[in-house]
Amino acid sequence: MRPVNRGDVPKNKDGTNKVYTRYGQAKDDLKNVLGTYCSYCEMGIENQVDIEHVIPKNHAPSLENDWNNFLLACKSCNIIKSDKNTSRIGYVFPDIENTSFLYEYSINDVKVKDNLESTIKELAIKTFDLVKLNRKVDNSNMTDDRKLARNNSWNKAQEALKDFLELLPLISNDEQKQNLINLTANTCNGFFSMWIQIFKDYPEVKKAILENVNGTAIQCYDENFNPKEDLTR
Ligand SMILES: [Zn+2]
Repeated sequence: MRPVNRGDVPKNKDGTNKVYTRYGQAKDDLKNVLGTYCSYCEMGIENQVDIEHVIPKNHAPSLENDWNNFLLACKSCNIIKSDKNTSRIGYVFPDIENTSFLYEYSINDVKVKDNLESTIKELAIKTFDLVKLNRKVDNSNMTDDRKLARNNSWNKAQEALKDFLELLPLISNDEQKQNLINLTANTCNGFFSMWIQIFKDYPEVKKAILENVNGTAIQCYDENFNPKEDLTR
């Protein structure tokens, strides 16, 4: 789960803080700050973006239009999460905690990492279950949209890695190398954490992937752009 920096309340042209009277008014600002990706599953959501209330509206009416309670979510994560959590307690959220190191990917699955410390693992599992991150089929017994997109992105990342490794030995200068890195990173279409895992041995590619998208909390990654294993930022 890509940790994000939402930043301060966006400003009006005159320098005052924006006040949203309906939460839908924050959508463009959120897209600018976070990129058009689901804050939970990391799927690209150009046309299907929902404003997600970290603490659900009915549990915290006073936070309904509060910038610091907003994230972006895909339809699946938003509907599944619904109003199940009554607060932030017992979960981890990508706008406050470092959620970069909790989950791992394989060709068909995303799962909670085995080797987490027990209290962290418990939080990671509850958050994972809150949006059913590894759901295979939806309520209509159709393939979960997120799983389909994730599998496609997995294949795309494996292909990008293969191309990268084929072209790397042919590179003769720094400029060509940077071009190859950018080209490779530009093929990443969301599911950033999965791409970071797949490109684990190539820090420059990871750097470009993480920096290509607005809002990544880059402070949650170490000097080799691997996730830091510490929940607090
Ligand atoms: Zn999602």
